[in-house]
Amino acid sequence: MDCIFCRISSGEVPSEIVYQDKEAFAIRDIHPQAPKHLLIIPRQHIPTLADVPEGHEALPEEKIPIERELEKALGEVHERGEALLGHLVAIANLLAKKEGVAGSGYRVVINSGRDSGQEVPHLHLHLLGGRRLGRLG
Ligand code: AMP
Ligand code: ZN
Repeated sequence: MDCIFCRISSGEVPSEIVYQDKEAFAIRDIHPQAPKHLLIIPRQHIPTLADVPEGHEALPEEKIPIERELEKALGEVHERGEALLGHLVAIANLLAKKEGVAGSGYRVVINSGRDSGQEVPHLHLHLLGGRRLGRLG
């Protein structure tokens, strides 16, 4: 395994973990772009945001809405990807409070793929705060 975030997750590479649970953990970015710059990282090795499972992607386009409704009704919704993303954002909110930037404001960013400049191919959220942030892009 040569993924730095997988290595930190397993404890193979020591790092100051600021939050952790079964699904995810958070560390401080080694090259902070703001006074508060944390990374929220799922333990599962998902390379990019685009790789988060949707659950209905195998269905033909025209069948998606009804199938999805059916899945929901049957309790077979494949919401794992959505639940994971929600969990990661909730951790970002929690950490924003802990880091004292919830009131002043903060930004949560996910880079996904080449054009975004994503450097580490293991899904992660950036939590940035503690100063006025510039415009996006
Ligand atoms: P991205 O460009 O969205 O892939 O962001 C990757 C981020 O991970 C960068 O901001 C790096 O500074 C940060 N980073 C890379 N390796 C480590 C590490 N070992 N510990 C903490 N942050 C890291
Ligand atoms: Zn990984």
